[in-house]
Amino acid sequence: MRQPVFFNTLGRRLEPLEPLVPGQVRIYTCGPTVYDRAHIGNLRTFLFEDLLNRSLRFMGYEVTQVMNLTDVDDRTIQRSQDTGKSLDEITVPVTEAFFSDLDALAIQRADHYPKATEHIAEMIALIERLIAAGYAYESGGSIFFRIAEDDDYGRLSGFDLGQVRQGERVVSDNYDKEDVRDFVLWKAAKPGEPSWESPWGAGRPGWHIECSAMSMKYLGESFDIHCGGVDNIFPHHENEIAQSESATGKPFVRTWIHAEHLIVDGQKMSKSLGNFYTLGDLIEQGADPRAIRYLMLSVHYRDKLNFTLEALEAANGALKRLDEMRFRLAHTGASPGESRLVASVEKMLEAFETALAHDLNVSESLAALFGLVREVNTAIDGGAVVEGDREHVMTALARVDEVLGVLDPEAWRTEAESEGLADDNIDALVAEREQARADRQWGRADEIRDQLQGAGIVLEDARDGTRWKRQ
Ligand code: AMP
Ligand code: ZN
Repeated sequence: MRQPVFFNTLGRRLEPLEPLVPGQVRIYTCGPTVYDRAHIGNLRTFLFEDLLNRSLRFMGYEVTQVMNLTDVDDRTIQRSQDTGKSLDEITVPVTEAFFSDLDALAIQRADHYPKATEHIAEMIALIERLIAAGYAYESGGSIFFRIAEDDDYGRLSGFDLGQVRQGERVVSDNYDKEDVRDFVLWKAAKPGEPSWESPWGAGRPGWHIECSAMSMKYLGESFDIHCGGVDNIFPHHENEIAQSESATGKPFVRTWIHAEHLIVDGQKMSKSLGNFYTLGDLIEQGADPRAIRYLMLSVHYRDKLNFTLEALEAANGALKRLDEMRFRLAHTGASPGESRLVASVEKMLEAFETALAHDLNVSESLAALFGLVREVNTAIDGGAVVEGDREHVMTALARVDEVLGVLDPEAWRTEAESEGLADDNIDALVAEREQARADRQWGRADEIRDQLQGAGIVLEDARDGTRWKRQ
């Protein structure tokens, strides 16, 4: 089994992965706050985590992934108050939309998606441990983590606590803390907010404690990899380390891996700039989710991903080259003889995996793949494809697609059918084609027939109109 190296934010260097249990990797990934539909920046981080999981499985590791769903926090509560809806009425549909985004991008499911609201008891138990050990204290029904007790706070982010005024009692955000640097573990209930009973009265958890409590519940007190976007490093992940290690006295996580942000046309995505997109927005504008997946995977996770229409076009082009090669190979003749492609296929697979194992250097993996595409095309052009080549190349493509997840045409066609071509849409297209025929716009009519055919819909023109059926 290959031993990959990853850039560990903790220590800021490339390090070989050494799973606590050989051959098994336990991964925790910070999930969405389900107050609103995920934007494509969030999805970039989730796609990077999908690439990480798939790459580790490709190398032969058994992977257990946990992703939390933050379904109670300041933002969900704010949204519920602004709209007059209950917390559930906000979070349930957003969670469903989140899973449909994952499916649309062929992101493999994690093993567990724990919800914060279903793990209040675990969070309370963890807070009690921290209080008992002197790391946390109560103030006005809220509980705070006592930073002064944690000697190595700041290890992950390089945050220098010495720079912050110390020991000064403050009232911030309506909470009375011993020290400006302390962070909240449990928030006393405010009128009109959802709350749960606790040993300190009614209240709700702070955001950081949920990830410590839920990761340790599903993965153990020490596990291998923790991921998120770079904005999670401070304070969220720094606080997770402080809480978890203070409670257990054990190292929490070995390897911290963070994805850089996605930007749009060179700028930070924001609603006021009008460049804020969800996956649904892009699909509505005609973008192919398969190309979005490809584009997001093809940029190294530690580089900013600049999302532009040109980059999406280039991703479409790359996929087309792969599709065309596959189509040509399927339809070319093969003669008996010694294969020259077999060695190229082996070389490609080796290079593909080696590059992934080096901190997910996916552009090098793709370069190896496209090297093979060129060789196959040359072999087809020169009539040099021999018996057995087709199977070798197809098997290798299926193998690399375990990581890339963009090549299986069936997977994406089903997606398009279930997403775009509901019965109503088909009816509308059929009606439009009939109108085009009546108007003698044959080009348009043929275009619609081809589009439907591509999605597996067959048309039957009868005297009383056109009927359609799924293939
Ligand atoms: P949230 O739903 O805000 O809790 O964020 C979910 C995940 O998306 C977190 O891991 C964030 O680090 C990540 N994230 C937020 N904004 C971006 C962005 N512009 N690009 C990439 N990842 C992001
Ligand atoms: Zn988290």
